[in-house]
Amino acid sequence: MSDNSLKQLYIAELKDLYNAETQLVKALPKMAKAATSEELKAGFEEHLEQTKGHVQRLEQIFQSLDESPKGKKCAAMEGLVKEGSEVMDEFEDAVLDAALISAAQRVEHYEIAGYGTVIAFAELLGESEQQSLLSETLEEEKETDEKLTELSKEINAEANGGEESSAEGEEEAADSNNRQRIGRRKPGRAA
Ligand code: FE
Ligand code: FE
Repeated sequence: MSDNSLKQLYIAELKDLYNAETQLVKALPKMAKAATSEELKAGFEEHLEQTKGHVQRLEQIFQSLDESPKGKKCAAMEGLVKEGSEVMDEFEDAVLDAALISAAQRVEHYEIAGYGTVIAFAELLGESEQQSLLSETLEEEKETDEKLTELSKEINAEANGGEESSAEGEEEAADSNNRQRIGRRKPGRAA
C-alpha cells in the first residue's frame, strides 16, 4: 500500500467515476438508437450531452489535483452497460423501452452513490471548488433519474398493453383471451 490516505481513496474513486462516465459516453448513443419512444430517445440524447459535461468536470478536477484521470476500469459500470445491451436483443417496442429505462436508472443510481461519496470526501479534504463541481453533476444525475421515473409511467403502462393499473390489466388480459371466468376469479390469482 503506497499511500493509505483518504486523499488517495478520493483520487481512486474519481478515477473510477471518470472511467464510468467515459463508458457511458459510448453506451448512451446505443441506448438512444435502441429506444422506440421519441421522448426516451431524446432523453438519452440529452443525458449524453450532460455526461460529456460530467467527463469535463472530472478532467478539470484532475487537472487541479495534478493527477491523471486514467488508470482505472469501472467494472460495475461495465456490468451495468452489458446488462443494458442484453435487453436490446431480448425485448422490443414499449417493453424494450421499459427495459432500457430500468437499465438507465440502475446506472443513475450507481452514479448518485459514487458522486455522493466523493462529494463527502471533497468536503472533508477542504476541496470546496471540486465539491461544488461534483455537486453540479450529482444534481444532473438526480434530475435524470426523476425524468426516467416520469417517462416510465407512460411507457410501462404501454408495455402492459396500455393499462395503467395491474388489476385492470388482468381483466383486460382475461377479456382478450376470451376466458369467461372473470367473475369467478379469486383475488390474487393470475388470469
Ligand atoms: Fe454522469
Ligand atoms: Fe448519468
